[in-house]
Amino acid sequence: MRRLHFFMSMRISRLDECPLDPIAGWTLGVCGYGNQGRAHALNARDSGLRVLIGADDADRPSAAQALRDGLEVVPLIRLGREAEVVAMLAPDDLQAELVGQIRAVATSGSDSPDEASGSLKVRAWAFAHGFSLVYDRPPFGPTDDVFVVAPASPGVQVRTRYEAGHGVPALLAIDSDPSGQCESLAKAYGTAIGCSRAGLLHSSVRDEVDIDLFGEQSVLCGGMNALTTAAFETLVDAGYAPEAAYLECVHQLRLTAELVESYGIEGMRRRISTTALFGDISRGPRVGTAELREALRSILDDVRSGEFAREWLDVRRQNPGWARQAPGENRKSDLEDAGETIRGLFQDDKND
Ligand code: NAP
Repeated sequence: MRRLHFFMSMRISRLDECPLDPIAGWTLGVCGYGNQGRAHALNARDSGLRVLIGADDADRPSAAQALRDGLEVVPLIRLGREAEVVAMLAPDDLQAELVGQIRAVATSGSDSPDEASGSLKVRAWAFAHGFSLVYDRPPFGPTDDVFVVAPASPGVQVRTRYEAGHGVPALLAIDSDPSGQCESLAKAYGTAIGCSRAGLLHSSVRDEVDIDLFGEQSVLCGGMNALTTAAFETLVDAGYAPEAAYLECVHQLRLTAELVESYGIEGMRRRISTTALFGDISRGPRVGTAELREALRSILDDVRSGEFAREWLDVRRQNPGWARQAPGENRKSDLEDAGETIRGLFQDDKND
């Protein structure tokens, strides 16, 4: 039986509905100057905000980068006391602790952090993903507005598209709105970092978290790595050269992904060879099996039940260095060796 799907279109706010005014003249504190943090900070500075980068340790590599970028780096106490809005862009698993630290140091000297709100200037907290809001709740104050503006790209594109006069679309979600102004603040933040130029898609924190975790596990990271590795190993096990297998099954992924980004799946199909098109339509369904759909459903179940988050936070608690060690421990040497050779062949392009 044919299943019926009912789609509700999302509300999308664009630049003309997202004035910067609600945060104009404010100081933005950024905690976590990495992939997203650097892009948000530089874009907000170029949009006219005063930007401070907060670091618990001035010797951090990211603090040195921020100084090289011409930004002011301050201890967390100054972030809490001088910034009206703080963008929490440290790794998800550290965010709760850092919000607590910023609030505590900014209000130190008082027995009760909330009674000493005169010394804590933060009125709103911005996030680029809602993981900690759902699973590792930071200790916000009762009057704090909290929102998510989650750009749909790595930070590098958030910055380069802003510099080119464009933006990256972002999901916008309101977590806590004691002021009644949180949506205006979130939209203004979306303008400061350039995302409203492309559009802010209104969502809920829970949906943003579920969709983002599922997408990175099933397609963007986990699924892509599993599929390309399995395809590479299928060719190599059948006796084909690893370099040729890598070139075909891993290296060229970007080219079709870019066609999908620009034209959609149907548009991509109109731009590949007729032989590739026939292979896609006749053989692709052999990959998209009932077992695959079952695996995807179980990944989504783990996300929605909180099982994935519990497991990740447990691993993080037991081994704080996990994220640094895991890529090396899971290295596939045949695939990486072939990749190194192939990337070397493109070296001239990189030097141009
Ligand atoms: P990231 O690249 O790992 O950067 C995090 C930064 O936080 C690092 O530069 C690190 O500094 C800094 N940091 C760690 N501990 C700190 C501390 N105690 N005090 C101050 N800074 C500290 O993280 P990310 O990928 O940008 O992720 C940030 C947020 O954006 C997360 O919520 C993530 O889910 C979200 N997000 C990410 C992407 C993406 O493409 N990466 C996309 C959308 C949303 P050091 O380098 O000095 O150690």
